[in-house]
Amino acid sequence: MIVSEKPTNFIRTKIADQIKQGQIQEIVTRFPPEPNGYLHVGHAKSICLNFGLAEEFGGRCNLRFDDTNPEKESQEYIDAIEADVRWLGFEWAELCHTADYFDQLFEWALHLIRNGDAYVDEQSAEEMRANRGTLTEPGIDSPYRDRSPEENEALFLKMRDGELPEGAAILRAKISMSAPNVNLRDPALYRIRHISHPRAGDRWCIYPTYDYAHGQSDAIEGITHSLCTLEFEDHRPLYEWLLKKLPVPSRPKQTEFSRLELEGTVTSKRKLNALVQDGHVSGWDDPRMPTIAGMRRRGYSPEGIRLFCERIGVTRKPNTIELQILEGSIRDDLEGRAHKAMAVLDPLKVVVTNWDQAPLELDVPWHPKRPELGSRTMVFGRELYIDRSDFELEPPEGFFRLVPGGSVRLKYGFIVDFEDVILDVDGRVSEVHVRYDPETRSGQDQSGRKVKGTIHWVHAESANEVDVRMYDRLFTVPDPGNYDDPASVINPESLIDGKAMVEPALSNLMPDAYFQFERVGFFKQDPESQDGQMIYNRSVTLKDAWAKKK
Ligand code: ATP
Ligand code: MG
Repeated sequence: MIVSEKPTNFIRTKIADQIKQGQIQEIVTRFPPEPNGYLHVGHAKSICLNFGLAEEFGGRCNLRFDDTNPEKESQEYIDAIEADVRWLGFEWAELCHTADYFDQLFEWALHLIRNGDAYVDEQSAEEMRANRGTLTEPGIDSPYRDRSPEENEALFLKMRDGELPEGAAILRAKISMSAPNVNLRDPALYRIRHISHPRAGDRWCIYPTYDYAHGQSDAIEGITHSLCTLEFEDHRPLYEWLLKKLPVPSRPKQTEFSRLELEGTVTSKRKLNALVQDGHVSGWDDPRMPTIAGMRRRGYSPEGIRLFCERIGVTRKPNTIELQILEGSIRDDLEGRAHKAMAVLDPLKVVVTNWDQAPLELDVPWHPKRPELGSRTMVFGRELYIDRSDFELEPPEGFFRLVPGGSVRLKYGFIVDFEDVILDVDGRVSEVHVRYDPETRSGQDQSGRKVKGTIHWVHAESANEVDVRMYDRLFTVPDPGNYDDPASVINPESLIDGKAMVEPALSNLMPDAYFQFERVGFFKQDPESQDGQMIYNRSVTLKDAWAKKK
């Protein structure tokens, strides 16, 4: 576990300043996901920012479902989002739904209409698009733009009462068709959708747009700092225009920051959804997915993800974060958190020829620096497995593991001295014979002997075989988000199924524990594990000292 490194950022600095100057008493933020998919690592950044600021400054943060798009939203997503926010370690002040504000939003739409600030447009979608203008050319006023407030109100009520078909009319703000910012060219406020809403049921057949609903929802909840990603910067003038025109109870301020783009991953719910629907991954919680559910199942800790969010900081500069930063944060957190255990992925039999007594039980703590994790029993005996890569017939220079004529320490056990090697018909090593030195038992060693290498091992008879799933990047390119169809660049080797021989304790279900298989990597039990049929997901590799040296 790493103590908070808390680099500061421009939003934090500004809030500290506002509080110091007495401009605000209490900060109120919100995290406003649309429940149309599972949360991903980009959302984690936003969650840590919004909830983190509220926590730090003694304020409040709401979880708000921005549920204005009934066709794509579902209860499954709502439940998953709540679970993921809690798992990350945050609790909301209030659980809100934009849908609960539909009545108020409707009233305010009437307010705009009556003041001549909104009108019902009956142009077709194509006409509206054609008349919108471009970045360099102004748009063209709708022929319906100058209707009287009375006529607009009557038409808007007809829209609400289901008397018009979808696409027949929309409600638009009356701002300016020649505004340089296209978001101000009479933006849509309400659309007709004859579709029932997961929360509001069949009460409505008109639904507010994001731009109309968002700022007003912020105002209703008394949000002081409405933090969003940079693509909404050009919407800010509209956000402010609406707040100014309406009798809202508070005046939130929108501040933008750059979205998290992570090398080698996609952070678009639509594209992630396609991977799930088309069966390229096993589900939203596939451990290769950059979703919070996927990262949880893979064995990332919430603390590790929060550490990552601290390390990447918050700026207004768009950039892509290297995957190493995420993996490094997870590793740094797990290093102090994980139960350390022995597992051998590529077993090579070692016979301790001078071991004639019964197997020896060793009481070994789960973590050398965390006695509160307790201990487990390991077994040492005559036949062991070590990893094949820890023995070399013809060792390269600097190879400090087991070699002909050499000695090595078996961690928590004894120093063993090479005796003999048995080759199979193909000349491959099938067995190594060693002698153990009884004077060198770990923790009781008075021999004064020093060896250069310490390796891991398991006792052959008491070890069990488990499944291990090794994950690699899901995509073969660093920028899969730039592909229309990321499935076309999926890494066929992103999941490799393997086996490992593990010490006895690793056959027990310990669903909450994080594990470090010593010298191998960090692992977590997959939720599909059963007694006698354990599955371990590799969360992240270790930094390999040997590979680095090469
Ligand atoms: P998607 O395009 O994947 O649907 P979204 O931005 O529409 O993503 P929302 O559910 O609307 O997803 O997002 C909720 C909040 O999370 C918003 O405030 C949004 O700005 C923020 N957010 C989403 N993606 C990222 C990201 N990659 N980095 C930082 N914040 C993000
Ligand atoms: Mg969105």
